[in-house]
Amino acid sequence: MTSGKGNEMTIAKAGAAEVDVAIVGAGMAGTSLATLLGKAGRKVALIDPHRVHHDEFRAEKIGADQMQLFEKLGLDKTVMPLVTPFSDLYVFRLGQFFAREKKWEYAFSYGSLINGLRDALPPQVPLTVGKVTEVSTGPDRQRLVLVDGSVINARLLVVATGYSEAVRRAIGVERIEESKAHSLSMGFDLAISPRDCTYQALTCYGRRAEDRVAYLTIFPIGNKMRANMFVYRTVAEQWTRDFRADPQKMLRELMPEISAQCGNFEVASPVEVRQVNLTTTQGHRRDGVVFIGDAFCTTCPTPGVGIGRVMIDVDQLHSVHIPRWLETPGMAVDKIDAFYDDPVKVTSDEKGMRVSFYAKRITTETGLEWRVRRLRNNTARQLMIIGRKVRHLGSRRQPGMA
Ligand SMILES: Cc1cc2nc3c(=O)[nH]c(=O)nc-3n(C[C@H](O)[C@H](O)[C@H](O)COP(=O)(O)OP(=O)(O)OC[C@H]3O[C@@H](n4cnc5c(N)ncnc54)[C@H](O)[C@@H]3O)c2cc1C
Repeated sequence: MTSGKGNEMTIAKAGAAEVDVAIVGAGMAGTSLATLLGKAGRKVALIDPHRVHHDEFRAEKIGADQMQLFEKLGLDKTVMPLVTPFSDLYVFRLGQFFAREKKWEYAFSYGSLINGLRDALPPQVPLTVGKVTEVSTGPDRQRLVLVDGSVINARLLVVATGYSEAVRRAIGVERIEESKAHSLSMGFDLAISPRDCTYQALTCYGRRAEDRVAYLTIFPIGNKMRANMFVYRTVAEQWTRDFRADPQKMLRELMPEISAQCGNFEVASPVEVRQVNLTTTQGHRRDGVVFIGDAFCTTCPTPGVGIGRVMIDVDQLHSVHIPRWLETPGMAVDKIDAFYDDPVKVTSDEKGMRVSFYAKRITTETGLEWRVRRLRNNTARQLMIIGRKVRHLGSRRQPGMA
């Protein structure tokens, strides 16, 4: 009934594919989960409308803790060749050099990363390229009909369609806006090459609350220097239009302290701008279906916890819940609830939401409490900067004194 063609699957219209788990959406969450379940010997269908994931602006770097999750899941061998690792990060705060951090980070273009993960799908888990037109879910069987009329029957349906609403709506779940237009993420290439940039990577935090800038981070992806900037503004406002029109001028005004090190902020690509809403889901506790990754909840890129949250969903489902669910007949909501109530998942989602709100408040809030907090943080940082300068001066004087 199913025939493999390369790593794609075509389903003969006459019959239906029978699988343990049908995963709709072959992004970070769906492709990773499909790989792990396939390797564990499960029969899996992975469905996405596009064979090749287009190169959209999404997460472009992860930290060591997130890479450890890929390692734990055995996906690091696939991921490592697709990323640019770096470990020497210069941090600027309050308009001055603040710290040099020696820690591993890994940069990538999102489309290439997802396509690399898809290429590494086990042969027994082909990608079905198609659009889902009908979904029916129940306590025993889940049924998907694709636009070409082919049918997939599964014991469990996993929805991993990211921001997209079509499949979620067809099932009848609702997205709740926890914070609409919470922030803007902006991505662009700098003209300077990694070889000519003074620093391997740098992060510069906004100086004034009224600027509404969380931070700008600059890092290498292959042979180019990429910039991600996170601001608490909206797409429509004049500031955003001005930034798009002349990012170099705006950056030189906002962050003159790092301009020279970054080739005077000469920009070599259009500025990609994405509005981020913080969302959760309502009505998701149902028979036969589970929502994961951004299809379940979205947090803000500023604290950089999105990929970690997605991979925790994947890990808990693959290592704890799905093996238990498939052991016994049925897929009623009491089984599914165990995932949504899993303390590891709950803690990860709650932390993602908490740090997303905190990062905005500590940057922009003007009430007394937040001004005091900023003053306290900035005083501590200023003291650290002074301490470092004094130590530096001391170590320079040392030879002369000897
Ligand atoms: C601008 C931006 C910057 C970010 N930066 C960071 C960062 O620095 N660090 C970090 O940790 N996180 C970051 N994130 C968050 C991170 O990118 C996401 O949390 C993560 O990519 C979500 O993965 P996912 O698998 O849930 O969704 P996706 O990877 O979006 O996958 C969804 C998949 O579903 C498919 N699909 C859609 N509709 C259908 C349908 N009807 N039928 C079948 N398939 C469908 C799509 O084609 C896609 O392949 C950022 C997000 C944004 C928007």
